Amino acid sequence: MRPLAFQQRILTWFDQQGRKDLPWQQDITPYRVWLSETMLQQTQVASVIPYFNAFVEKFPTIECLAQAPIDEVLHLWSGLGYYARARNLHKTAQLIVEQRRFPETLDELVALPGIGVSTAGAILSIAFGKSHPILDGNVKRVLSRFKAVSGWPGNSKVNKELWAISAHLTPADRVADYTQAMMDLGATICTRSKPVCDNCPLENHCLARITGAVSLLPTPKPAKTLPVKQLVFLLLGDNLKQILLEKRPPTGIWGGLWSLPEFDSIESVHEWCLIKNLPIVDLQTLAVRRHTFSHYHLDFTPVVIQTNNPINSVMETNQAVWYKAEQIKTLGLAAPVKLLLQQYLYENEND
Ligand code: SF4
Repeated sequence: MRPLAFQQRILTWFDQQGRKDLPWQQDITPYRVWLSETMLQQTQVASVIPYFNAFVEKFPTIECLAQAPIDEVLHLWSGLGYYARARNLHKTAQLIVEQRRFPETLDELVALPGIGVSTAGAILSIAFGKSHPILDGNVKRVLSRFKAVSGWPGNSKVNKELWAISAHLTPADRVADYTQAMMDLGATICTRSKPVCDNCPLENHCLARITGAVSLLPTPKPAKTLPVKQLVFLLLGDNLKQILLEKRPPTGIWGGLWSLPEFDSIESVHEWCLIKNLPIVDLQTLAVRRHTFSHYHLDFTPVVIQTNNPINSVMETNQAVWYKAEQIKTLGLAAPVKLLLQQYLYENEND
């Protein structure tokens, strides 16, 4: 489909069905466009509307925003999330007021805190009528599907391809309406889940629709490959049915919780037993288990040792304490340790 035909379809759809009553579509100024575009980053239209209205009522001009204390700005932003946006907005308002004019070029705009290329494109096209492409989340979705661009849009190569498509399709005329139409199409028709392709002006030309790939595009972010750490947990039990637990340092993973003594290898456990002159009645190495944190997998090997003379070999300290089964149930324990102990205690109760 040629750009002209694409633009005509988009603009006709916008004229007939697009939303034109959103608060930032009234009394359009660079300040209002910039504010709305900033609020709409990672946030849905319905959530933004009350914040936008409250914001422009309190700070009707960029000068009012620049002069306001940051606490007042953050207070009004409270609940919208991503507070760096509010801090950048305030900082940028002060810079623009100092410059005594709202920037009108891409280079000037992207040099300001919190304004990326897509937000700059939206300001230039909607507020100044200058032909600049945008590529916000909604437009990325429409274009990935329309041209069946596979690959996660956060990938620089895919992102570059989508920018090139957006630039190729952006018109010289009616660019303000076109930009709003593309954002609106993504927000109301070409939605993330259950897009309404039957009502879409691009339906018969959309490659994702034609090839049945709508639900596969845009390609989701690849799952992170987490690093793996390995350690050995020693589950040391005595003849009084007590287990040795250690309190973890107050900060870091499982800070302040009770856990099992940790070793870097099974050999280290053996060495420790030798040093402590620990009489080992029974030793079992259990299968490796995995606990996943947000930033790594922990693969741990439980080594279960049964001893009969703990007093002379493993003394208690502030950090290491022998606990009875019923006491253990009342302690704050690291999650995988809790599970391991529950299984161990259950099996031993039923011995
Ligand atoms: S036809 Fe469907 S998938 Fe394609 S652009 Fe329109 S709504 Fe999106």
